[in-house]
Amino acid sequence: MEIKRKLEILADAAKYDASCASSGAAKRNSINGKGMGSTEGMGICHSYAPDGRCVSLLKILLTNFCIYDCLYCVNRVSSNIARARFTIDEVVQLTLDFYSRNYIEGLFLSSGIIRDADYTMEQLVGVAKKLREDHDFRGYIHLKTIPDADADLLAQAGRYADRVSVNVELPMEESLERLAPEKSALTIRQSMANLRSHIDESKQDKKAPKFAPGGQSTQVIVGADDSTDRSIIEKSATLYSSYRLRRVYYSAFSPIPDSSKKLPVKAAPLMREHRLYQADWLLRFYGFDSREIFAQSDGMLDLDIDPKLAWALKHREQFPVDVNTCARELLLRVPGLGTKAVARIVEARSIQKVRLEDLQRLHVPIKRVLPFIKLPGHRNSKALDSAKLNQMLRPEPAQMSLLPQ
Ligand code: SF4
Repeated sequence: MEIKRKLEILADAAKYDASCASSGAAKRNSINGKGMGSTEGMGICHSYAPDGRCVSLLKILLTNFCIYDCLYCVNRVSSNIARARFTIDEVVQLTLDFYSRNYIEGLFLSSGIIRDADYTMEQLVGVAKKLREDHDFRGYIHLKTIPDADADLLAQAGRYADRVSVNVELPMEESLERLAPEKSALTIRQSMANLRSHIDESKQDKKAPKFAPGGQSTQVIVGADDSTDRSIIEKSATLYSSYRLRRVYYSAFSPIPDSSKKLPVKAAPLMREHRLYQADWLLRFYGFDSREIFAQSDGMLDLDIDPKLAWALKHREQFPVDVNTCARELLLRVPGLGTKAVARIVEARSIQKVRLEDLQRLHVPIKRVLPFIKLPGHRNSKALDSAKLNQMLRPEPAQMSLLPQ
């Protein structure tokens, strides 16, 4: 099979992995060479490197053939799709060619299980090893690891890759048993723990060889089972604290061809995926815990408003807060104030009183923020009593923002 055809198949198969920021973007297809700026097709996606830079990655599978039969996966053994497989040398050459033309800054490589977990992991490590050792490749490498693979192979993966990941796949272990019978939640946890201890060791001992300096991440599929948003976010909170994950990625389930009756017939709303990302940010950067986010709820996030606004509307007694005197932790809870704005307000108020004009200069969304704050010369607490506040603050239909504000 021609390399170009393999690339079409294996880049397309990789798009179901959400560990890149362009997953979930509107689908613009430029297969057949038509158009520019495709988020699909020839395997280039955008992701965030550990230092926060947005990098372009060649995102492919080594093969979309897999001996496992995870029901939610288009690459499962029982799936009737075109199959392809790259050799190690082909992936290495493609990466080098794309890199030298400045198309990409790195590689994201995953694979179906070829013969067994160890053989597959050897192949994935083989690509990274060859790039680093034979070609002195300095670009970014993200390797998806196979949880059941030998610990030594996982250790090698971390030595060559900037980031490693193990997919949790489904939030509840019963769902994993039902929909992915060959996978084991225990093995996934052990593998994450193993990666975490390697990462910790290499950070603590400056003389030790570097191990996945970009940390580890995982992916959770949303809407393939009946897990609530609460159980998903609680799972993420546990993953962050137990294995110090850098990111949990959420991937809205979408039906696949010839799918099992055990799966939903409808795709999960993309907005649900988006709200989960926002709730995840509240956990990591805004000082919320999962119980607060879901207090007084049925366990599902409101699809109409972001979770921080939903929390504030349920806790109106905590507002308005005085922008010039309240604790930073409270400022972070004001709908419309992001972490950067809060940092700048805290800095500014140490010099002089912050006024409305200062917030305008910081490009804070004034209409959204005002009902929740007190400023010199401004008091808007009546707005908090308005039964219509909820309605007033519902956003106009617009492009989604990743960050809760
Ligand atoms: S192991 Fe991975 S590639 Fe194979 S069927 Fe399961 S999810 Fe798909």
